Amino acid sequence: MKYVLSKSSYIRSLQCLKSLYFYKFNYKDRDPISPEQQAKFDRGHTFGKLAQQLFPGGVDVSPATPFEYDLSAQKTQSLMLKQQSVIYEAAFIANEVVVALDILIRKSGLLHAFEVKSSVKISQTILNDAALQYFIITEAGYELEDFSIIHLKPDYKELPADNVKALFTEESVKEWCISQRTYVKEHIEAAKHIIQKKQMPSVEQGEHCNIPYPCDFKNICNKSNSFDAGSLFG
Ligand code: SF4
Repeated sequence: MKYVLSKSSYIRSLQCLKSLYFYKFNYKDRDPISPEQQAKFDRGHTFGKLAQQLFPGGVDVSPATPFEYDLSAQKTQSLMLKQQSVIYEAAFIANEVVVALDILIRKSGLLHAFEVKSSVKISQTILNDAALQYFIITEAGYELEDFSIIHLKPDYKELPADNVKALFTEESVKEWCISQRTYVKEHIEAAKHIIQKKQMPSVEQGEHCNIPYPCDFKNICNKSNSFDAGSLFG
């Protein structure tokens, strides 16, 4: 199954289409990752693993490398045919986009999707992420009874770390996801267009370069603004 966009490259494209272009065609020119950013990723991974204990006994279909999500999607498909009750990192591909969902459970024959976040509240980026996942999973042919965000309770630091149920809370965002279908579909097309054309879009630097994340292509972006783009990035 072919895909050209992932969840992270889609979220990147919402922030800046030029950043998506660099990610696809100038990946080696990425700025080094800061220790703070790395710590954020590690924290997300740790809480993601912890939240799996809320739904024990699942099959983990995480890919061995970031280039093998097609295999994860195939494994997911076969587990779905077998009515597997809990899947971690279930992958789905539709409209040339791949998404991997933290936890998928089947309860009384109905599918419930959960995305785990290591924050205490639901940000706009988390909502955008959920809207994309909902769109792709349903486009791949699976009906979702619900889609929820599992996140930390505001007072989680005072709670016993070994009581996983006490640490997390969950909130349904299904209605939001449904309301975003047209927007998601159109933005996927805009992002794919950048990739297909292989032409660097013209985007001025500004406040968006740090919202929601500090852009990791600032260095090459500065150069692209100083020189003739055609000679550098043809
Ligand atoms: S530095 Fe700003 S304008 Fe340049 S690619 Fe990054 S987000 Fe886009």
